Amino acid sequence: MDSITKALMDIVGEDYVSNKTEELFTYSKDLGTSEPQWPDYVATPKTAEEVSRIIKLANEEKLAVVPLGGGLSLAGLALPLKGGITVDLKRMDRILKLNKIGRFIVVEAGISNGKVAAHLHKHAPDLMHSEPGAPAAATIGGNLAIHGQGDLAHPYGFNSDMVNGMEVVLPTGEICQFGSCALGNDWYTLHPLPDLQLFMGWSGCTGIITKVSLRLFPCKKNIEQDMFIVEDEKLIPKILYELTHVGMAEDLVAISQEIPPPFNRLHCILINLSGDSKEELEFKRKLIFDGKLTKYIQEGSGGIGAVGQRVERPQVTKTSDWRKGGGFEYVGAIVPVSFYPDCYRRGSEISQRHGIPYTVLGRVIGSGHGMMFSWTYAFNRADEDTVRHAREALHETDEMVLEMGGTLWKPAVFGQKLVMDRMDPNTLQMMKKVKHLLDPNGIMNPGNWEVA
Ligand SMILES: Cc1cc2nc3c(=O)[nH]c(=O)nc-3n(C[C@H](O)[C@H](O)[C@H](O)COP(=O)(O)OP(=O)(O)OC[C@H]3O[C@@H](n4cnc5c(N)ncnc54)[C@H](O)[C@@H]3O)c2cc1C
Repeated sequence: MDSITKALMDIVGEDYVSNKTEELFTYSKDLGTSEPQWPDYVATPKTAEEVSRIIKLANEEKLAVVPLGGGLSLAGLALPLKGGITVDLKRMDRILKLNKIGRFIVVEAGISNGKVAAHLHKHAPDLMHSEPGAPAAATIGGNLAIHGQGDLAHPYGFNSDMVNGMEVVLPTGEICQFGSCALGNDWYTLHPLPDLQLFMGWSGCTGIITKVSLRLFPCKKNIEQDMFIVEDEKLIPKILYELTHVGMAEDLVAISQEIPPPFNRLHCILINLSGDSKEELEFKRKLIFDGKLTKYIQEGSGGIGAVGQRVERPQVTKTSDWRKGGGFEYVGAIVPVSFYPDCYRRGSEISQRHGIPYTVLGRVIGSGHGMMFSWTYAFNRADEDTVRHAREALHETDEMVLEMGGTLWKPAVFGQKLVMDRMDPNTLQMMKKVKHLLDPNGIMNPGNWEVA
């Protein structure tokens, strides 16, 4: 047994370390188009102290450390591009505190969204957190590390805007707390201390998030989805503007997809509403339909697709298997809502060029302050040609987004480089200083957000 394996076993216990090919294999891949990247070791710590000791060891040995949550971010972000230790955080999945009146929950960052939702369902059914549309195994820490968004994006913004405090293990091993918890004053707020939030959106390059206080929001007894359909994509920004003015929805998503064929070239606006009573739901529906959407029906440019469909959370997309073989990856971008028509048109052209059924989706963030727009490219894992097409389509989409004036969300290394090439040089310099200050040995998720 080599000395690093032994040192890792001393930290986390024998059963929670591996350097065996058959186990490392699982960690060498993700679900997207990225080429496999092998770690040298995998360790699955149980506490922040163990994470800290692993990081100190990695600094001594000059080994890379790659945090891994659910491994569902698709863009190769948790693949060990430079080998080293994959730190699988899924054993750090405890719920530490639920404060109902203060509407927050404190969890270990490796906990899955599904486990948080199940706990709330049992112990505080009138509260919810904003759940991404990812499979339920996606972790809270992984989602924050990439600025994810969930099904409360319309009223409350990015999931990373819904954090009340954090504990992070820095790339040099210190365990730090941010927010009121740093004063020992519970986990009820992140503000108003000087802003030291250097961990969200960095894909684990500046530290490992180990604890999080998440804001909770009212969970009404019934959640339903209504669907409004238009043919003309140019109507979408205006309709979304009107719907965000009414402010009754929890999640507002516009989607267009080639499959199933009846939906091809149509734009479906999915409107999630919730209410504790029939009257509450009817009231909200009335404001939305009678107040805003009926005029489109009367002028013949829109129609109701469905009303009152029951919603299961999380609402996971079913678009992954359209080429058979189960592969898909998407480019996500944060763009103004007004970009929808162009994003749809140019994205569907890219799909067409690569022979992939198009799927595009825009989720409203905040009161129409932005939109997460995604272009999904399905491929067949067993057919290298379809993988190549998907990869090329992803790269073309990255370039298109930046050329249009959008920003990339959770970009893969290719997109990260495009972003950094275009970034204001002073900002880039600042990123470099922050990275070098926090991570002097460059051990944290190297290869990602590499500021030269
Ligand atoms: C079908 C499908 C639908 C999706 N829908 C959504 C959606 O609606 N909204 C959305 O936001 N995302 C969505 N995603 C993308 C992604 O799955 C989620 O964002 C997910 O929450 C990522 O979490 P994870 O635990 O899988 O992260 P991982 O993939 O494990 O990690 C993501 C990045 O964060 C780093 N990291 C992981 N844990 C930590 C930590 N504790 N501290 C520091 N860095 C860390 C990793 O190194 C990596 O760089 C979807 C994905 C799929 C497959």
